Amino acid sequence: MTITPTPEEKNVNDYPATGALHPAAEGEVLLRGVLPYGEGDAQDVLVRGGVIVEIAAAGTIDPADGADVLELDGQVLLPGLVDMHVHLREPGREDTETIATGSAAAARGGFTAVFTMANTDPVTDTPAIAEMVWLKGQQKNLCDVHPVGSISRGLKGQELTEFGMMADSDAKVRMFSDDGKCVDDPRLMRRAVEYAGGLDVLLAQHCEEPRLTEGAVAHEGEAAARLGLRGWPRVAEESIVIRDALLARDYGGRLHICHASTEGTVELLSWARDHDIPLSAEVTPHHLILTDEKLETYDGHYRVNPPLRETRDTLALRTALIDGTVDCVATDHAPHGSEEKCCEFDKARPGMLGLETSLAIIAQLFVTDPPEDQERQDWRFVARVMSERPAEILRLPGHGRPVAVGEPANLCVVDPGHSWTAHGDEMASKSSNTPYEGMDLPVKVTTTLLRGRVTCRYGQVSDK
Ligand SMILES: [Zn+2]
Repeated sequence: MTITPTPEEKNVNDYPATGALHPAAEGEVLLRGVLPYGEGDAQDVLVRGGVIVEIAAAGTIDPADGADVLELDGQVLLPGLVDMHVHLREPGREDTETIATGSAAAARGGFTAVFTMANTDPVTDTPAIAEMVWLKGQQKNLCDVHPVGSISRGLKGQELTEFGMMADSDAKVRMFSDDGKCVDDPRLMRRAVEYAGGLDVLLAQHCEEPRLTEGAVAHEGEAAARLGLRGWPRVAEESIVIRDALLARDYGGRLHICHASTEGTVELLSWARDHDIPLSAEVTPHHLILTDEKLETYDGHYRVNPPLRETRDTLALRTALIDGTVDCVATDHAPHGSEEKCCEFDKARPGMLGLETSLAIIAQLFVTDPPEDQERQDWRFVARVMSERPAEILRLPGHGRPVAVGEPANLCVVDPGHSWTAHGDEMASKSSNTPYEGMDLPVKVTTTLLRGRVTCRYGQVSDK
């Protein structure tokens, strides 16, 4: 069996981006007047054959006849975003999202690669299903849609799937997770860690000790108590984080913590890092910006798993993202039909849309309008937490690369002066369950390129 070489072993430009079906776009695209990482003077960036071939002062590059020239005066050029955690619902719930509609949402959000979780129907627990997901994404060609394989067969938590066969398939599955459910059996998780370590694939854990969250619908705290909602305590997450950190320490696999949501998880991640344990972590935009104060609305759109927590958790998570204790942002984009969300809070399905709003939320919170007592970050920070780190953690070639000559043209462009108002029914997703309905956001993704082809331009996606 061969596994795609890691960037450390081989230069990523030595082999095709991701085993993509479609070759890179042949024509030229000129990005006129952009600011790479929002820094310095405006530049022209010329893309040809899917690669950045020239960067020079704005107005100085003459493109070939027929080139697509995009006037992007003063907009910010970043590597295309990478989302380690989405739910595109296909196969099984195509009424709420499909690989096609989810890919369109991803392109509009600035993403060039997403990893779609295995909790579909049927579950992604065989090479055949993984290859179907990968091929459907490639046929749409708006975004690389990488299937995540399940850790246990049918997400039942009893026997391991064939990691090796899925890793060796055309889908080249490089991440395994039972997300939606926790692998709570410590013996099964130990075997998974040992197996994954031998293959050098990533295991991503949804940390939730199920015996501590039975019937829980909201964060266990004052707000839930006041409203009579069953509480989901922090310890249900943290007890699995520390158990899995110790498994990774003793049995050597690479482990990743999905949607870290508590202050205590941050402390445990910091401890793991001090002990050189190979443990990475993501945080969602909603766990950085929303708290359980939203429960007062009884609005099912705020139900999510893990639940929205308290201000001290959001503050700890923000600090952790800035100092690198939490590696990256992932959206946990989770479409649901309106009948599953517009109902009593405790009947609503957990999950929120995220692909089209995440860049703007992160930019607002860290770059354009950070709270007074929080250090302002730059666009390199956004590139790090939304593109470079996730690509590194997944050893994903071709994505999260520097904006530089010779690098793959997987890119996104952000207009830092384009404010807009989020409306679920204007998004490309088949569902409209955004928790940011009616919220004004300060910046907008205007343009996305996948392998040198423009996949999105001011909200218009182009899948040809
Ligand atoms: Zn999850």
